[in-house]
Amino acid sequence: MLVLVINSGSSSLKYQVRDVDAGSVLAEGLVEEIGMGNGGGGDGRIVGPRDHAEALERVDAKIHAALGGRALDAVGHRVVHGGERFAEPVLVTNEIIRAIERLNPLAPLHNPANVLGIRAIAKKWPDIPQVAMFDTAFHRTLPEYAWRYAVPDELYSNHGIRRYGFHGTSHEYVAHRAAALLDIPSEEFDAVIAHLGNGASVAAIRGGQSIDTSMGFTPLEGLVMGTRSGDLDPSILVFLGRAGWSPEDLDAMLNRQSGLKGLAGNNDMRSVVEAAGAGDAKAAMALAVASYRLAKYIGGYHVAVGGAKALVFTAGIGENSHQFRALVAERLGALGVQLDAGLNGERSREPRVISSTSSAIPVLVVPTDEERAIAEATAAVVSSSSPAR
Ligand code: ADP
Repeated sequence: MLVLVINSGSSSLKYQVRDVDAGSVLAEGLVEEIGMGNGGGGDGRIVGPRDHAEALERVDAKIHAALGGRALDAVGHRVVHGGERFAEPVLVTNEIIRAIERLNPLAPLHNPANVLGIRAIAKKWPDIPQVAMFDTAFHRTLPEYAWRYAVPDELYSNHGIRRYGFHGTSHEYVAHRAAALLDIPSEEFDAVIAHLGNGASVAAIRGGQSIDTSMGFTPLEGLVMGTRSGDLDPSILVFLGRAGWSPEDLDAMLNRQSGLKGLAGNNDMRSVVEAAGAGDAKAAMALAVASYRLAKYIGGYHVAVGGAKALVFTAGIGENSHQFRALVAERLGALGVQLDAGLNGERSREPRVISSTSSAIPVLVVPTDEERAIAEATAAVVSSSSPAR
């Protein structure tokens, strides 16, 4: 099956063409600055189309060259918010598009942008089936005591205020790969997965299902991230509101000026690790705050899953920063976690164990691949929904 995977943002469109059976990537790219009217773009990136439909036109030739005369079987979309309805990837219909749009208030930046991508494809290739895969879906198995906030019930019943969780596609994919590497059936796999990219979240996996995760109503809750604060005392916002901060000021501060950036002046883990190594005290403290917060979550989730059979690191920082992994592992001594310094320091793109043989819990690095997960899910949904194809 040949699947086009689309990750559509408000001003960008990321695509990948995959041969699902061969497990290969035939083409990929990114169109940026959609709707910004810049035109041109000298560095190989394509910038400045009027809308998502025009962005698609610009990459059409590349997609078709990659297909080499073969026809596209399906298109799979990353959709950020699936609310309480979507626990699985689904075939896109007009009703599904409307359902995604009804969730716009919960993800005002992302869901409308995802729908722009879906509509642009429907207009260009009306006969190609489309599948939507939701970042929240894997976390639909959270028990109510894990997703409830302890606030008046009307906030949930009237406004949908509860914990949803994100990065679900990645957590699910990585959990499967990790279970396979350890030769444990997925449905018996209890683990803690740390997805550490610019956005970061931990998931508690029990019997292969998500039973808790650190992101909540939005991707802001939980860990210290590149530019997001993660957990804090909500009264801080009340305090700042009374001091005259607007909702927009608070949103910008929490989502774009906090995290590593707020603490160390830089949101890039590589730079923060380098600066700390060169004696920058703020950078060192940022690493301490971030690794301490993560270690507390891992300890809590180890209890939540009834004893994790694995601790798994993934995404940009989790896959690449042996320094940050070591800082986290140092704080997990009470769980008997022990890294093998040699294995932790190795550079590899393969899923692998990085703990010592005496570690009470194996520690793994498993590269995530959300596009592959979306392509495979898309192929599965399309095959099961249209046996004639
Ligand atoms: P996104 O959430 O945008 O997909 P990524 O998963 O690409 O983010 O992760 C980005 C983070 O990974 C950045 O903080 C970056 O510094 C970090 N990172 C990438 N490569 C390395 C590396 N070799 N060493 C340390 N950190 C790295």
